[in-house]
Amino acid sequence: MRLEGIHHVTAITGDAPGNVDFYARVLGLRLVKKTVNQDDPTVYHLFYADEKGSAGSDITFFEYPGARRGQTGEGMVHRVAWRVASEEALDFWETRLHAEGTEGSRAEGRLRFEDPEGLGLELVVSETPDEPLIADSPEIPSKLALQGFQGVRAYSSQPDRSRSFLEEALGFESRSDTAFEVRGQQRGSLYGYDAANEPPVPGAGTVHHVAWSSPPDEHEAWRQRVQEAGASPTPVIDRFYFKSIYFREPSGVLFEIATMGPGFTADEPLETLGERLSLPPKYEQYRDQVEPALTPLSNPRDAWAARS
Ligand code: ZN
Repeated sequence: MRLEGIHHVTAITGDAPGNVDFYARVLGLRLVKKTVNQDDPTVYHLFYADEKGSAGSDITFFEYPGARRGQTGEGMVHRVAWRVASEEALDFWETRLHAEGTEGSRAEGRLRFEDPEGLGLELVVSETPDEPLIADSPEIPSKLALQGFQGVRAYSSQPDRSRSFLEEALGFESRSDTAFEVRGQQRGSLYGYDAANEPPVPGAGTVHHVAWSSPPDEHEAWRQRVQEAGASPTPVIDRFYFKSIYFREPSGVLFEIATMGPGFTADEPLETLGERLSLPPKYEQYRDQVEPALTPLSNPRDAWAARS
């Protein structure tokens, strides 16, 4: 059994319109699902990914309108890295982000920056056999586009206490004292630690959890393995687009293991992913009340389509 790298990363936004603008227009990802929080249908859960909505490219946000900024700290993911193909791509992104008022920090092979709410992001020139997971944007040539996740970094003051759990229970392989790789048949991702600086304060611009990919038929077995290793996984929860379990790894980071299917075409066709509000079945009968109560959003694809 092998986990297939990162499935998705979920973070928090206090500004859904600004979030769509940054991830769908500036970064050029596709808004592949616009739905509501399964526990609170008055707020969004937004999903951005490649053109097909693939696991391995999907960053999602819970909306808490007007939420104050959080503070990344111990036991939290503090940086999300995507792959790009070349230094030329980093040049392009440095210029594009600068034009949007976002200053990046460039080093060889990478560009670090923050989203408008302070979430730590990074683009890394990556040589990998993994399929590039790319979204179409008229403003971003595909050879320069984001290609799916490279990995995430978390804060831990004692990363050693996670080592045996990551290696023995989850099949991560050590790459250094503080870095691991998890790789399956199709994809792999990196997971690293940095020393914690501040106490964690959840809020806008912070990561809520990172999910790792499991083939659907191995999901139950992963739950058992996590439990046997001493963690406390939730029961399997049906998220419609995938099934999930959640648990904290020993450094306190909230992990999820999610199935690689059925995926975002479970309730709408690939061609129109994310255009209509998707509601969980229990809320569908309240669509007329739910939809007008949500923050109005404009998808940059509408403006692009109108122009062409
Ligand atoms: Zn999740």
